[in-house]
Amino acid sequence: MSGTPPLPAVTRLDEHFWRGGARGRLMILRCDVCATWLHPPTPRCRRCGSTAVRPQPVSGRGRVLTYTVNHQRWFPAMPPPYVIAIVELVEQPHLQLLTRLVDCDPGEVRIGMEVGVRFEPHGDVHLPVFAPI
Ligand code: ZN
Repeated sequence: MSGTPPLPAVTRLDEHFWRGGARGRLMILRCDVCATWLHPPTPRCRRCGSTAVRPQPVSGRGRVLTYTVNHQRWFPAMPPPYVIAIVELVEQPHLQLLTRLVDCDPGEVRIGMEVGVRFEPHGDVHLPVFAPI
């Protein structure tokens, strides 16, 4: 990919997620009290209500829960076709993130396919994307 795709507005609550890739780590908030992983980031645990949440590294492995193939050229830096997917991480059921699949033919993507994280650096933002493993 050349150029810059749309980048997130990084906040204190989610900077671990967008910048963890600088160290090759996918960082997800986890509750210190009940050990629940929390994504999208939230200042309060969705399960027990604790505010003792902090970023922890995950394995970066998951499965494709669902996906769609985009054929529209919305952004010059993102030539179609490309695959937008919801990936469920192996650490916990329903721990999902919206991402893009790379290094695979859109026609070969399957529900349940095992994928691993990679990072696309754009300045101080490292976009987590996933590829088949
Ligand atoms: Zn909790």
